[in-house]
Amino acid sequence: MDATTVTVTGAGGQIGYSLLFRIASGDMLGADRPVRLRLLEIPQGLKGAEGAALELQDCAFPLLAGVEITDDARVAFDGANLALLVGARPRTAGMERADLLAANAGIFGPQGAALNDVAADDIRVAVVGNPANTNALIAAASAPDIPGDRFAALTRLDHDRAVAQLAAALDVPVAHLRGVVVWGNHSATQFPDVAHATVDGRPVLDALADRLGGADAATTWLDEEFVPRVAKRGAEIIAVRGSSSAASAANAAISHVRDLVHRTGDAWTSAAVLSHGEYGVPDGLYSSAPVSSDGTGYRIVEGLELDDRGRARLDASVAELVAERDAVHALGVI
Ligand code: NDP
Repeated sequence: MDATTVTVTGAGGQIGYSLLFRIASGDMLGADRPVRLRLLEIPQGLKGAEGAALELQDCAFPLLAGVEITDDARVAFDGANLALLVGARPRTAGMERADLLAANAGIFGPQGAALNDVAADDIRVAVVGNPANTNALIAAASAPDIPGDRFAALTRLDHDRAVAQLAAALDVPVAHLRGVVVWGNHSATQFPDVAHATVDGRPVLDALADRLGGADAATTWLDEEFVPRVAKRGAEIIAVRGSSSAASAANAAISHVRDLVHRTGDAWTSAAVLSHGEYGVPDGLYSSAPVSSDGTGYRIVEGLELDDRGRARLDASVAELVAERDAVHALGVI
């Protein structure tokens, strides 16, 4: 089998350090698919990427067909089949949102243009670097020849966090849960939704009501504990660990691509994909939704009912995405 070319940006950073070894071991694409890694870094990050490449060599991964390191996006994306856009400009103290968006537009715009010019025809792009949804929008807008549905932003970590919190609350293994959805922006406004979730085929809302002493208690737990805990889990990890949740973010990126390539079956997961107006989300935004894949790409699962509470939360998160898009337009970057 020909090797799949996988480009990782920000490869010398913390997420990159967890991600590269799992890609090279076959966790992402399968034990029968050789991979060629391309590591993109800014000049200051090259040493980190070079160090990771030395360790990759020392692992003697049978599936690893090669590792190249570069600070040139056109070299990194040349012939790429998959691109994981991890490197981004972090928000620093006192930075306004417009400055953050402008700095990231300066990264994701040129990367989108390079992908457009040199990536393989079957390129798929997963954006991890924050603000991930709007960075995906910028990259896709800068790649007019690549269909917009080839881009997605990662909300899989939010999805997995929601599943794990529910499993703990219900005292069941995570594999017994299905149907969780994360809606909206990968930010504090995201809406982890359990209205369609089941545990061993039974509505999660009923199971929570039994466990917590009634439907009102379940709603209170969801609104006051579950949703904020999932949305703020990144800050909780930083407070406890002293650094950010790099390994779980890398794991979520692996799961996102693995399910995209190897199909979700009749289950769904969550990803921020291009909206065509589903669930009232304006056309052209990258907003998290329930998605399934037949191996060719993520598509939004339609037909779920949103109650008033869910509608209000999704609308609030979409309003934030619209504001980010408008700010990017005002900057003239797309
Ligand atoms: P990380 O590898 O920890 O994070 C990278 C990006 O992923 C950040 O935008 C971060 O957002 C985001 N992210 C998404 N989900 C999570 C999560 N659950 N936990 C943590 N981060 C998450 O950052 P490092 O600073 O260690 O590494 C970044 C690397 O990118 C550096 O080596 C830098 O040189 C490089 N870089 C490369 C570029 C390029 O290739 N052109 C451009 C810019 C940077 P958040 O900031 O919100 O935590």
